[in-house]
Amino acid sequence: MIADLEEIKGVTLETIYETSEGKLILTCIQCGTCVGTCPHGEYMKYPPRRIIEMLLHGLADKVSDTDSMLKCVNCYACMAKCPRGIHLTEVLLQLIKEQTILKLPTLPAELQKALENSYRYGNPMGESGRKRANWVATSKYPVRILSQNPGPVDVLWFVESYPAYYPRGQDTCRAIAKIFNRLEIDFAILGNEERSAGECGLLAWETGLAEALIDYNISILGKYTFNKIVTSDPHALDAFNYRYRMYGFKKPVYHIIPFLMPYYDKLKSMLTRPLNYSVTYHDSCCLGRHNGFFDEPRALLNAIPGIKLVEMFHHRINSICCGGGGGGMWLDTYFKSQNMERLSDIRIREAIATGADILAVGCPYEIPRFEDALKVAGYENKMVVKDIVELLSESMED
Ligand code: SF4
Ligand code: SF4
Repeated sequence: MIADLEEIKGVTLETIYETSEGKLILTCIQCGTCVGTCPHGEYMKYPPRRIIEMLLHGLADKVSDTDSMLKCVNCYACMAKCPRGIHLTEVLLQLIKEQTILKLPTLPAELQKALENSYRYGNPMGESGRKRANWVATSKYPVRILSQNPGPVDVLWFVESYPAYYPRGQDTCRAIAKIFNRLEIDFAILGNEERSAGECGLLAWETGLAEALIDYNISILGKYTFNKIVTSDPHALDAFNYRYRMYGFKKPVYHIIPFLMPYYDKLKSMLTRPLNYSVTYHDSCCLGRHNGFFDEPRALLNAIPGIKLVEMFHHRINSICCGGGGGGMWLDTYFKSQNMERLSDIRIREAIATGADILAVGCPYEIPRFEDALKVAGYENKMVVKDIVELLSESMED
């Protein structure tokens, strides 16, 4: 399912046909499956099928003259369903995005600010880099910071920006610190030395920004001795596994949910506090559709005593995007100006329809998006959004 990263490094729309990916694009049968599965397809002048049609007629420039790719939230739905296996989200759409962004006279203000903040402060919120590890002081469980204690460590926990700064994200950090300590995992964080992995820049295809963040993080990571990276952010997972590799980064990188699976028996024996909730799980696009982790989140939820798991109508590979990927986190105002309904609002209605008490998630973007969507739906007191790690921690005695 994954494109050949070495081959596509540095590829452009002009040189793409020299690659196996370009040859794959030529096999497009114009079936329109990609358009039908795209959650924003109806709002794009040029959805994926039309992009390929234009490309084949030498008219790619016309596509990047429109905002079609600004509306792509990198949900991988088109790519997952393409009968030819064309790596739309990973390759072609990114190239069009890159050109679109270069041509737009101005970017939507929110996105522009997030990209500027990422460049200047190392996080899209514009928070001070010196406060990145402040949450550690609020953790009941010890968290080693490598700059203060730089010896070798097994797991380098890449915290990422939303968990590090956003209050609900910090709840997930405290939960992870508890789980790691209880499982006796040898772990440490970069602390204030960490900067955003750069995925938002990459998938909004601000290549220069992405490269600056990649270079910086690779040089900081190079100072320390560790065996693997674990992150709770599927976007960071993708950045490391699909982009940092192009720049020579070689260490294994795991999302925390699959990472915990080898500890399943030990973890389950610690989940002694029953949580008598009905829970529905939202498959994150990066974790599920892109990386195939559908069973692992459900296995961990089912390990918690008392939890009853109910599925939404669209789940697993058919899950509906929360709208936060590919720069979508910072495009809600722009989408609204285009009379587009937020995907998080659509998705939350499916979650509410299950009658569940809890919407479980595995991506830090999803907590703020769905909490806000619950407010919009008037359901803020009837359903709660929680990361899976929060539920695991809640079921674990201190
Ligand atoms: S789903 Fe694949 S084969 Fe069908 S139109 Fe889209 S890109 Fe072409
Ligand atoms: S990645 Fe998702 S949003 Fe982007 S074009 Fe494909 S289906 Fe549409």
